[in-house]
Amino acid sequence: MQSQSAYIPLCYYTGFLELLREFDDIFEVKTFRDLKWGRDFNHEECYPSEWAKWNLTSSPRKITVVIQHDVDSRPERSWLAAREEEKLNIPSTFMIFNNRIGRKVYEKEGRMEYTGYFVDYDLLHKLTAKGWDVGYHTNAMDLALFDDDLAKRIFLRDVRELRESFDIRFFSPHGGLRSPTGRTNNCITPPDLEKLDLRWVHNRFAARFHGQWSDGGINSPKRDPGNRDLRLFVAGMEPGRRYRILTHPQYYDHEFDGNSGRIGEASWFRDVENLVNSGKSDEIWKDVRDNFSVMREKLRVKPFSLGKATARKFLGIVKRIKK
Ligand SMILES: [Zn+2]
Repeated sequence: MQSQSAYIPLCYYTGFLELLREFDDIFEVKTFRDLKWGRDFNHEECYPSEWAKWNLTSSPRKITVVIQHDVDSRPERSWLAAREEEKLNIPSTFMIFNNRIGRKVYEKEGRMEYTGYFVDYDLLHKLTAKGWDVGYHTNAMDLALFDDDLAKRIFLRDVRELRESFDIRFFSPHGGLRSPTGRTNNCITPPDLEKLDLRWVHNRFAARFHGQWSDGGINSPKRDPGNRDLRLFVAGMEPGRRYRILTHPQYYDHEFDGNSGRIGEASWFRDVENLVNSGKSDEIWKDVRDNFSVMREKLRVKPFSLGKATARKFLGIVKRIKK
């Protein structure tokens, strides 16, 4: 039987949240909703007007972070992460399914069936009132077995049904099944998104970022877990830039018995595990905190300004968009 335990101790993620809070003079945590979209629905070009506006109006002294969670399996672990975020007032976006299907049942038996999927409406309503967001994790192509017209109808139905509970304005396709020709959920031809007032922000089309970290498929045999340490990614963040952090909260829990699969072989992960097992979870983010203490001092003494060449480039983009 497959282990029920999480791959990663939750304190690895909460340590990141604590870092964001401790250095909130440097980090600005935003949701997709906070970005200045205007009428930019141009997902094919990754929303050029939004990006230009962000570059013109963001502070060159701040690091902008957008946190996205894909709520795939074990949704209760997402709500666990949400409560940790609530304690520190660090908002994020939870991408949820309208109906979750059991991929394993389909792959083994060829049957499509909905599986249990617990959405904590009370918690999410409370959080969305305080700046968190809920988006649509689309699996419409899976549900339609890659029939494009049917997928479009399912997409519309899902958005309509989810909007009965949440003000859904952003979506991201789930990985999910793969058709014999290699198509997945991100091959959907969506309905008129401008008319729906809905934006595609991740997976094939996306909002722009200077850098992105994701734990997606962290134990997949196709990927190297050795270079997926969030701490290393965060340590490399620079002021004036914008980053997305994408987690799958099903991987994180307080209950953690070290049964972590391939990730358990990565040296950074063994370091985290040793600290947790020796009661030193507080030290997981210590080096990164030290880095940001140094950055804080540097930002204090050295005033930042947008370089002239950079400013000209951004103004050029804005002019082109206005035309
Ligand atoms: Zn997913």
